[in-house]
Amino acid sequence: MKKIFCIMFLVLMTTIFIGCGNEKKTTDPNKIPTTVATEENSDKPVNDETAQDSKPVEDKLATPNVTPQTNNDYVLAADDLSNLQLNDPSKPVYDKYIIWERQEKGLPIALPDLEPYYDEPVVYLTFDDGPDGKVTPKILDILKAEGVKATFYVCGNMVETYPEVLKRIFDEGHAIGNHSYNHRYDQIYASPWSFMEQIIQTDNAIKNIIGVRPFIIRAPGGVGMFSANYWTMIEDCGYVEHDWNVLTEDATPSKPNASTQVNNVLKYLGDDPPHSVIILMHSNGDKQETVKALPEIIHFLRDWGYKFGVVTPMTPQPW
Ligand SMILES: [Zn+2]
Repeated sequence: MKKIFCIMFLVLMTTIFIGCGNEKKTTDPNKIPTTVATEENSDKPVNDETAQDSKPVEDKLATPNVTPQTNNDYVLAADDLSNLQLNDPSKPVYDKYIIWERQEKGLPIALPDLEPYYDEPVVYLTFDDGPDGKVTPKILDILKAEGVKATFYVCGNMVETYPEVLKRIFDEGHAIGNHSYNHRYDQIYASPWSFMEQIIQTDNAIKNIIGVRPFIIRAPGGVGMFSANYWTMIEDCGYVEHDWNVLTEDATPSKPNASTQVNNVLKYLGDDPPHSVIILMHSNGDKQETVKALPEIIHFLRDWGYKFGVVTPMTPQPW
């Protein structure tokens, strides 16, 4: 019974019937976790110039033909998803199949139950809305200099525009998560089917470049946008969503400078900092102050004894 929602969706996708969901969005804040703040205050698409959705459906579903690379920098899921209970928050987890490829091959799609990783205090630096050609490379430079891994929740249209930056994120051992195709709330949140269409479209874009696709996703604006059916769809399709419990507020209209961003992180951490910290930042557009704030954020978190991990299906939820 459980996988019916996802399979129905995949059937719809493969019968070229995308975006047909007429289900009304019925966000019920009582049924869903709430986050400490919304990610952005507008539904502006990321990279407006490239935010187009004009590709034929056949192209969106085309099988990527990049061979997965295998190395020790990430964990590649087994066909039966049996190797995902890890004891290491430092390695990204990817799949060599898009979910409809799993369905075609008769492989499991929904993830098994996994124990969250709580062994050590871990901070997960996350950067949304990229990759771009200016800010993301600077962030990668800092992460490399500091010897720190992070997680980049990318948009499909940005991935197609800056494939070499996505490749660099992957090659340098950071985790890549899925953050929709075009970040347009009016399209993403038209229905759970619309949401999942963008997730799969972005998986295709990612897999076309690096040969694997992520299990981790982040909803633009956070899961406050979800009704219960979104959760059912995500779980049945084998994705794990993570919001955040700390943010620099770098995407708010006040555009905080670097020192304010550092103070914002301290404010959210409070007097009793969480064991597991997921920090929301952004790596696109005009986020130069985020770049300036990043080294100090890394330094004091390291001084406080946190390890730096990448988001995986085992990462504890921040709420
Ligand atoms: Zn975003």
